Amino acid sequence: MTETPDLGAPRIWVLIEQDAGQVHPVSWELLGAARRLASELDGEATCVEAVLPGYGVRHLAAEAFRYGASRVYLLEDPVLALYRNLPYALGVSRLAQTYRPEILLIGATTLGRDLASTIATQLETGLTADCTELTIDPKLRILAATRPTFGGNLMATILCRKHRPQMATVRPRVLPLPEALPRGATGEILAVELDLREADLPVRRLRLIPGAERLNLEHAQVIVAGGRGLGGPDGLTLLRQLADLLGGIVAVTRPLVDAGWISADHQVGQTGKTVRPKLYIAAGISGAVQHRVGMGDANLILAINRDPEAPIFQIAHLGIVGDLHEVIPELIRQLQTLRA
Ligand code: FAD
Repeated sequence: MTETPDLGAPRIWVLIEQDAGQVHPVSWELLGAARRLASELDGEATCVEAVLPGYGVRHLAAEAFRYGASRVYLLEDPVLALYRNLPYALGVSRLAQTYRPEILLIGATTLGRDLASTIATQLETGLTADCTELTIDPKLRILAATRPTFGGNLMATILCRKHRPQMATVRPRVLPLPEALPRGATGEILAVELDLREADLPVRRLRLIPGAERLNLEHAQVIVAGGRGLGGPDGLTLLRQLADLLGGIVAVTRPLVDAGWISADHQVGQTGKTVRPKLYIAAGISGAVQHRVGMGDANLILAINRDPEAPIFQIAHLGIVGDLHEVIPELIRQLQTLRA
């Protein structure tokens, strides 16, 4: 570390998560939130900055500037080429010990969840994991991080009063994706030496065995979702047909996951995923609040339900009152005719 840091300016940091040079969009969502938190704190006086670990990732700094970072700490080293907990955590922790950010935000992705807990342990600070909302407590002027607790029955707002940085992981898609500034937005790149050798690391990644294809429900543009009204696991076949025609992904309510009809990564809602698609078709879904919190921000919601009083119609932009076993095959038939 070459610079003597100016610790006078409070800093909010966002970890930029990338895989093979592709940034996870939650990083940009967090930069948008960091800008909002900075202005809630004290306007221009708080710096919004990004921490970018990896190898061959310098070009991504330009993107971070477009989403509002004024400085990017570039942690580039061959040992960071593929994600491993220890070198990533050591790199970010040492940086935080030098520059002492007030707040450190990380996406609640698989990588982020793994990394954030180690960083919090190394820095001996508190971490509020899997948050759904971030604000500044107006009285104490510190981070108020809200997350579901007791199995989702309560929302808890957690403050980290005594330790720094105040750390939080936030679920993808809970926060809006901010508008990017035009290309050419600039800032400062601070390249930081990691000072770690491969031989010092206890874990080596020998090869990557690809697992099941990852379901990117959070960033799907079209989602065809079903609930108990499907009547049984066979009903999912109908949803899949419609989703395939629309280039979408199938999602479900929690009872379907609990019943073992489909895996949990398809669940939308308070204890599932948060989505913001352009089109969300809700078939045989009553619209319980625990489901609505996960999909209420969709651009266009089309509800299909045989009960005209179903609460889902209160938030749907378009509604069809009818039996989904008749409505969906008809939709499929019409779409196929259009395409023929
Ligand atoms: P139901 O409420 O039973 O609704 C079925 C609907 O289908 C009804 O409106 C009915 O009119 C309609 N229907 C029936 N047959 C047909 C047909 N042939 N054609 C058309 N319509 C038909 N739920 C989630 O989804 N996600 C969560 O993350 C989640 N987290 C939870 C966390 C907690 C702590 C708790 C307590 C609950 C949670 N739930 C969650 C469950 C939630 O409260 C509801 O029970 C659930 O969302 C209801 O699912 P559903 O709409 O599929 O079923």
